[in-house]
Amino acid sequence: MKEIVVISGKGGTGKTTITAALAYHLQDKCIVADCDVDAADMHLIFSNKAVDKRKFYSGKEAVINRELCKNCGLCQQKCRFDAIISLSNYKKVDPLSCEGCGLCSHICPYNAIRMVDRFVGDFFISDIRTNTKMVHAKLLPGGENSGKLVAEVKKESRIQAEKYQKNYIIVDGSPGIGCPVISSLSGADLALLVTEPTMSALHDLKRVVELLQKFLIPAGCIINKSDLNKNISQEIKEFLEENQIILLTEFTYSKNFIHAVKSGQAINEYDPFYTQEAIADVWNKIEVLVNK
Ligand code: SF4
Ligand code: SF4
Repeated sequence: MKEIVVISGKGGTGKTTITAALAYHLQDKCIVADCDVDAADMHLIFSNKAVDKRKFYSGKEAVINRELCKNCGLCQQKCRFDAIISLSNYKKVDPLSCEGCGLCSHICPYNAIRMVDRFVGDFFISDIRTNTKMVHAKLLPGGENSGKLVAEVKKESRIQAEKYQKNYIIVDGSPGIGCPVISSLSGADLALLVTEPTMSALHDLKRVVELLQKFLIPAGCIINKSDLNKNISQEIKEFLEENQIILLTEFTYSKNFIHAVKSGQAINEYDPFYTQEAIADVWNKIEVLVNK
């Protein structure tokens, strides 16, 4: 089984559009994993029907039992994160501010505070319209530890790939270079970089490539909207060459990339004339790279 993780460093380059196009091209030959858990949107394209939904917990948070609370104020006084608020005759924890340190539950003279697992999001396994499974998740606003949730998505996508004997997992990676993207890259056979000709995208591309080199993950690249700034496109190509990264293809700017997402379709489904052959060609190159 081979894992292809699509990443971009910077958001807005067309990462999800390219991921969806590859998944659409492969149809039932792959498992799809959406590791962009902070802003998951692959389900908008593949109209999922959840067959398994689980709650995801990470870390702890304090909860005050108002029946036991004597409103002495000690917990509020000692909480360094101002997470305890006063109500009429008892105290309450603001879960968004609570850091889960546990101090308040230790010092409450009336044992009114207990630490509970923090619910941070939902995790799904879905049937999608390409007759395969998609593993995805939705982090709650303010939910932390998205790296851990990404690791869960990756783990389950491997279980699904083995169960249904799929040779490929197509992963929509997290943006940036932080913990979630490192988590989405773990175990990757190839990182597919999607970039665009802007200074910020080039800067982020360099940082992502540095990360890939540290983890010894091979990479290929797609330049999207390549005609918007030909000089920077050229700079990107030179950078790729210096770092022995294969340029898989480039797409000129097309509003159809946006229209495809808006209409809930993959770009090679919405605009086959412009993209179907190019995506098929990209996939052929990827297949050679991951199987050599
Ligand atoms: S320390 Fe305990 S009793 Fe005192 S205000 Fe906090 S929860 Fe209530
Ligand atoms: S667990 Fe820590 S951060 Fe949360 S309310 Fe208690 S003292 Fe404050």
